[in-house]
Amino acid sequence: MIQLILPEVLRMRVEHEARAAFPRECCGLIGGTWEGAAAQALDLYPAVNIAEAPDRFEIEPQSHFAALKSARAAGRDLVGCYHSHPGGAAEPSPHDLAGAGEDGFLWLIAALPGPRAPAVLQGFVYWADQRGGFQRIGLVTGADLVTSSP
Ligand SMILES: [Zn+2]
Repeated sequence: MIQLILPEVLRMRVEHEARAAFPRECCGLIGGTWEGAAAQALDLYPAVNIAEAPDRFEIEPQSHFAALKSARAAGRDLVGCYHSHPGGAAEPSPHDLAGAGEDGFLWLIAALPGPRAPAVLQGFVYWADQRGGFQRIGLVTGADLVTSSP
């Protein structure tokens, strides 16, 4: 099973971004490295959400390019993206499926029931030939996981 290893400090950053963007969706990219079937998240690259509807996200192309450049400079890949579902479930929406395209790309979704409620995070991987497109992955979080972020 594919896993995303997400250090607690990065998990908290996703939650804070989700809270700050509420009731709109936050979005960004995840920098990291693959080791076998496990992706180690090492950095987050918050992106400007240019979607007009409040219940969607679209990563600004300049944000995507800057994230790719930063990740490559650090010897990393963009292993996936993250975004929030304010008041929604930690499951990919039909809009997410319509916007997905890259095989093997990870999707981290942070559901935030309310502005002060704790976030629920789930990870998925996208495969174009997979029924429904997304497959749940293992999400490993923990305070003792290493990260390069301050
Ligand atoms: Zn979504």
